[in-house]
Amino acid sequence: MHIRFWGVRGSIATPISSEQLLVKARALLQQASNEDIASDEAIDNFLSETEHSWTYGGNTSCVEVSFDDKVFVLDAGTGIRGLGAQLMADGRGKSHSLHMFFTHFHWDHICGFPFFGPIYQPEQIINVWSGRSDAERLLEIQMNDAHFPVKWNMLPSHVECNQIPEDQEVDVADAKVRILPMIHPDKAYGYRIDHHGSSVCYLTDTEVSKQPERLAEHYAKFVEGADVVIVDAMYGFLEYHDHINFGHSTIFNWIDFFRESNIGELVIFHHDPLASDEDIGNLCASAERYRKLIAPDVEWRVSAAREGQYWDLGDRSGTQVINQ
Ligand SMILES: [Zn+2]
Ligand SMILES: [Zn+2]
Repeated sequence: MHIRFWGVRGSIATPISSEQLLVKARALLQQASNEDIASDEAIDNFLSETEHSWTYGGNTSCVEVSFDDKVFVLDAGTGIRGLGAQLMADGRGKSHSLHMFFTHFHWDHICGFPFFGPIYQPEQIINVWSGRSDAERLLEIQMNDAHFPVKWNMLPSHVECNQIPEDQEVDVADAKVRILPMIHPDKAYGYRIDHHGSSVCYLTDTEVSKQPERLAEHYAKFVEGADVVIVDAMYGFLEYHDHINFGHSTIFNWIDFFRESNIGELVIFHHDPLASDEDIGNLCASAERYRKLIAPDVEWRVSAAREGQYWDLGDRSGTQVINQ
């Protein structure tokens, strides 16, 4: 199983500003020595090592999970445009096994859909999955009327929408898929996908931080044994208390939940549009410090999602894990 992040931001796409770019440029110039810029190769090496040459990214939610020749897409935020371009370029965007899973239908999770290249391919069947029975209606309305020039019924591909029952595991293209109701306005569902011993959990847009003690066991049971657990951790501890009932969480509750769990990695996701790269880095560092205090003996670590972040979990007969 391969997992790749194409969009990690919450609520609204957040492109890097000129001001933020200047901060990075200044830090790079201050950090570079004469040797670091002596040749193209030296520059490449320097840029690959410094923390100032990249960003967590501003696209909204989209995660690619692929195995064998199958492509699963979790949410269709603005990040899906890049995934679509990649699939078209490498030949996986036409008459390929393609399944899309929606947590819910807030704009930040669907607004990339009309910009996803494979939906314009006549031979492509798009299998849409969600916990709701009205996914087609909800996707359709964002393209109809005066919202988008290509209307739903003009799409050349064939889009088929399916509902996943709350209490049942379903087989999708050789993988086992389960959903979990999230705590979020207008209904949302988290996912667990298992394939040949590898697994990923995607639990975004949920407010576990309001009554965490009621939920810990429930969530811990759902993620047990998963390699990568992606969670809504939009806010820091104090910021959360300014955003009660917004439907989002703080990472510190997730660390409490999984203090005795066997998982591979806990990933902070759905970053606040107001958070700079520095803010996200600081949140991740605080989370890791907290994990060391609360759960010093667990094997897993905490990371903050960034666009392009990638895992190759192999086929779990082997146990190769690469995180880039
Ligand atoms: Zn969201
Ligand atoms: Zn939402």
